[in-house]
Amino acid sequence: PIILAIESSCDETSASVITNGKVLNNIIATQAIHQKYGGVVPELASRAHQQNIVAVVSEALSTAGIDKSKLSAIAFTRGPGLIGSLLVGVSFAKGMALALNIPLIEINHMQAHVLAHFIDEPRPSFPFLCLTVSGGHTQIVLVKDFLDMEVIGETQDDAVGEAFDKAAKLMGLPYPGGPLIDKHAQLGDAKRFTFTETVMPNLDFSFSGIKTQFMYFLRDEVRKNADFIEQNLNDICASLQAHLVGMLLKRVEQAAKQTNIKEIAIAGGVSANSGLRKSLLAMAERKQWQVYIPAFEYCTDNAGMIAMAAHYKFLKGDFADLSVTPLARMPI
Ligand code: ATP
Ligand code: MG
Ligand code: FE
Repeated sequence: PIILAIESSCDETSASVITNGKVLNNIIATQAIHQKYGGVVPELASRAHQQNIVAVVSEALSTAGIDKSKLSAIAFTRGPGLIGSLLVGVSFAKGMALALNIPLIEINHMQAHVLAHFIDEPRPSFPFLCLTVSGGHTQIVLVKDFLDMEVIGETQDDAVGEAFDKAAKLMGLPYPGGPLIDKHAQLGDAKRFTFTETVMPNLDFSFSGIKTQFMYFLRDEVRKNADFIEQNLNDICASLQAHLVGMLLKRVEQAAKQTNIKEIAIAGGVSANSGLRKSLLAMAERKQWQVYIPAFEYCTDNAGMIAMAAHYKFLKGDFADLSVTPLARMPI
């Protein structure tokens, strides 16, 4: 099958073409407009998707060398995400599928983050555990098959990506701050400052406490020294990042033990984090795990992962009806 996939759940407009399970391209238009607001403004995101979608889809088709008449199906992200953003992708996909008289495939964005691991080699084997960490989610997923997944632990409040971004904002860094914290962290001393953890039961997480703790930490230090942040930025970033990564890996270690699974994957925007990647690899060596880390372009939001998920749904004959609507919340 030849499938066109569209992603529009948040602030990236993306399209990808997949033929017989091989992702041919992954066109991404990132919306710069949100930077000056320090976070994604839903109404502006929706409008930017409308402006970008035709060009992004055309580019995906042309760079793949595929005429739209050759498409077997159109896939789109149904949820979870911002409803106004999702609506643009869903409506566009419906219109195009109707015009071409081909089936529609609806994709769960969080399943797709996990299935990004099947775009390139090496591929994990089932069952495996996937730590999905992004701007909106922090989950440990037990992956039994391509389309059979179960969340066995997740955040009860903020996502870890949100903790990165909000901490960055408190330090005056632009949105999204996660990658910037990562950059400064690589130059800093991770043992310089320590933070405490809110411990949740079972395999769950909590990241709202660290946000408040970090805010008071900065406030107290800045009272003593007005230039505290500028003078210690690298060490602050390194210490905070090590703390967040430690919280994540503690749970992964527990989940691996509980399930007796040694195939461990990470996915989502925060899986681009160098500290997380490094610590996971070190832990894997000690624990004899096989670990899977996606290529950078498949960590944050992208249509390549939507295309990969669509391929498996197509093989199952799992198509959506034209009456399908987007879902802001959508369980995996
Ligand atoms: P969701 O997938 O839950 O709907 P989302 O689509 O916003 O949320 P992604 O695009 O997958 O999430 O990830 C974006 C998040 O990843 C942001 O919070 C961003 O700061 C974070 N991020 C990206 N790169 C890094 C990095 N190197 N270190 C830490 N965080 C990072
Ligand atoms: Mg994004
Ligand atoms: Fe995402």
